[in-house]
Amino acid sequence: MNGIIGMSTLLIGSSDDPINIERLNIIMSCGDTLLELINDILDFSKLEVDKIEIETQPFGLHMAVREVMDLLGPKSSQKNIRVEFEASPETPSWVVSDSVRFRQILMNLLSNAIKFTDKGRVTIRSSAKLNDDKTWTMKFSVKDSGIGISKGNIERLFSAFTQEDASTTRRFGGSGLGLAISKGLCEKMGGKAWVESEVGKGSEFFFTFIARETAPQESQKKASPFALYSPEMSKKMPLRLLVAEDNRTNQIVITALLGKLGYSTRIASDGHEALKMLEEQEFDLIFMDCHMPVLDGFETSRAIIKMYAGARRPQIIALTASTLREDIDLCYECGMDGFLSKPITMPPIFKALSDVYFRLHPAALLQESNEVTFNDSAPPAVLDSSSYFSSLRGLEAVAIQVLETSAQAIPGMLHNVKKAVIEGDFAQARLSAHRLKGVLSTLYAESARQQTMQIESLALKAGGVNKSEMILAYEKLATEIGAVMDSIQKNLSEKKIISG
Ligand code: ADP
Repeated sequence: MNGIIGMSTLLIGSSDDPINIERLNIIMSCGDTLLELINDILDFSKLEVDKIEIETQPFGLHMAVREVMDLLGPKSSQKNIRVEFEASPETPSWVVSDSVRFRQILMNLLSNAIKFTDKGRVTIRSSAKLNDDKTWTMKFSVKDSGIGISKGNIERLFSAFTQEDASTTRRFGGSGLGLAISKGLCEKMGGKAWVESEVGKGSEFFFTFIARETAPQESQKKASPFALYSPEMSKKMPLRLLVAEDNRTNQIVITALLGKLGYSTRIASDGHEALKMLEEQEFDLIFMDCHMPVLDGFETSRAIIKMYAGARRPQIIALTASTLREDIDLCYECGMDGFLSKPITMPPIFKALSDVYFRLHPAALLQESNEVTFNDSAPPAVLDSSSYFSSLRGLEAVAIQVLETSAQAIPGMLHNVKKAVIEGDFAQARLSAHRLKGVLSTLYAESARQQTMQIESLALKAGGVNKSEMILAYEKLATEIGAVMDSIQKNLSEKKIISG
């Protein structure tokens, strides 16, 4: 599925023919539908054999609801349907339960409500009841003003592969698995699911689950080890920089990171443009994306080396999404001087800049004392948002965009670590942990970052790795990541409120 969806995305990006773009869009949308179906079937089969694990982590309930509403925002506004959330005052706002499963259930009910409603509104309500054992029974409902469900069909709807009638699939699509999965998940979480509905008037779906209340999880605002990156660097180590990169988001991120160190950069959107700029102006260092349209990074580097033939040429650092040995070898074969793997983060950029500076000015090395000291007495932060936002100061939109992309990428990256750990493939676990570490560094999520390093070093341990030790390290990482994800959401919702 990765191949189908990933490759069609790549092809759409490189195609100009409207007919082909239309066809690729169809492949992608069929791919998405198929992926959704596969995930549903997997979830359903896991529920059948009781293989679904319910995780318990603290999360912000209201934030989770907002997030699901935001995700479905485009769908509801397309149909001009208002979605509202009413929380009764006793509902705890921070609970310990399974946030992923909670979101999944709500997502299913809310997307059904929007799907089966043509006009009017959808209301999400929450309430909670304290149990004798101090746990809470949380109750949520999703009420719509849509087509409703006939009495005879209500009971059947929660069974697998059931839809109201055969015309539903034709009109609305879907597999009829969503409600069966939601019901199964609620039961795993100690609750239940049911519906009240009237044809033509609308439906109200209810679900409950058991949770513990917890204190709001604040990100600890302590000094970050990276807080010392400053614009002073460009004064101490002046360099003329060119970034050759076609992807707009990547251009913005790397320019922002370099800006944080005080460097202004010029941007070329492909190899040709880079070569033209080199004819007009001198540069000390080029950050070179490997895959670009017109002339890729490899060819451009060969051309630059030819162009300078013996004279002092700019240093070239490859930007690559690959960490495969062959790809990195290829960068060096083309004459590049180093590489940075994407996603690009501050520490390797900092190192690349100082390496190049000292390569160009070896004498400076003798005078330079190691000024960037790491402050390891401060307890590590979950997500040091003040350092993060100040690292992208003036680039609020980028900072939010990066948070959003990270929130999407992190669960998959964590899953890769888990898969490798379970399969006992520790080399892969190390690689996956390493990739995750990159994203965590960008976010100043120091505590989780340290835990990825723990996995990296365990994987490298001489005398073999103890699997249970590795699993423990993974579990700790998963908890840390849970906190990071919540903190990302918190930051996002705060920022969105501020920016209106
Ligand atoms: P899917 O939506 O993939 O078909 P579900 O299990 O989520 O599967 O839903 C099963 C069926 O229940 C739907 O096809 C539809 O007939 C009915 N249904 C679910 N939610 C609603 C709703 N809010 N209003 C009316 N009918 C609904």
